[in-house]
Amino acid sequence: MKIAHLDMDAFYVSVELQRRPELRGKPVIVAGTGPRAVVTTASYEARKFGVGSAMPAARARRLCPAAINIPPDFAAYRAVSRQVMDLLRDHVERVEVVGLDEAYLDLSGLVAPNAAMRRLVADIRRATGLSASVGIGPNKLVAKVASDAEKPAGFVVLTREGACARFADASPGLVPGIGPKTVERLAALGITTLGRLAQTPEAALQERFGTNQGRDLLARARFHGSAQLTLERVAVSESRETTFNTDVADRAEQEAHLRRLSDELCAGLKRPGRTIAIKVRLDDWTTVTRARTIAEATADAHVVGGVALDLLRAYAPARPVRLLGVRVAGFDAPAPEVDAGQLALPL
Ligand SMILES: [Mg+2]
Repeated sequence: MKIAHLDMDAFYVSVELQRRPELRGKPVIVAGTGPRAVVTTASYEARKFGVGSAMPAARARRLCPAAINIPPDFAAYRAVSRQVMDLLRDHVERVEVVGLDEAYLDLSGLVAPNAAMRRLVADIRRATGLSASVGIGPNKLVAKVASDAEKPAGFVVLTREGACARFADASPGLVPGIGPKTVERLAALGITTLGRLAQTPEAALQERFGTNQGRDLLARARFHGSAQLTLERVAVSESRETTFNTDVADRAEQEAHLRRLSDELCAGLKRPGRTIAIKVRLDDWTTVTRARTIAEATADAHVVGGVALDLLRAYAPARPVRLLGVRVAGFDAPAPEVDAGQLALPL
């Protein structure tokens, strides 16, 4: 298998800079203005101050007081996202869109996959003026970490073994799904690098972290991952989720994240749905979903966010939360964008 992960560089900020070129080179943050607002994207200049996505906007302003705050304009991001995703589908038949600004592509059928991805990146730049980073590997995990390794405008191709070698000295926290708390617990065991983690006996990890997380940690450290793409044709729901860098215990902060996720989800929704669900993973890896079906299909962020908040309040997580997600399902009609002919073509 050959999987690519394409990730637009600082997407929301980059779209804003296209229409406000005078802000180029300055620290810019796209975030709401309320007291509980969360940063959606920060420019690379702002990131130098330690500002990052999913950080409370108030904290970002403390870290980088000079940052220029722009409220998110999801309609604009969605329009550019459509343009980008259409280009992806022009180049590659099998595409899994995982957000407004990122997608996995199955390159298995291509004769010259790396060259095809370079052409795609050039086409995106020509059409939108925006830059993207690409990672290519045998599975989604390698591709995802590779796309992040040399941002912005990165282009990194790795085998699984190559990924193990390249990131052997990196913190385990480099890998998605291994958060700071786990990193701390690993450090207490003397495991401070991915290489060290990859060589730890599974039994030892399972004793400390439990059967599932122990197995999962080892697999991630060895860059084993899924190469299965979820194609749009079979999509019966659309969702957005975030794993936090630090487990979130504060309810108001949880709610702010849920609102942001609902905004982002609805911005990318291709059709309204009647079932709204949340997914909550606690710091002990307990994972629950709660769903509600409403009378009329909606793609309205206020409605989706409102139901999601209700569901969260009703569940009232008893422990700090490591992951939150929002899902919309129960679509009445097939999405107009789904093009059966495109997916039916053999590779
Ligand atoms: Mg991105």
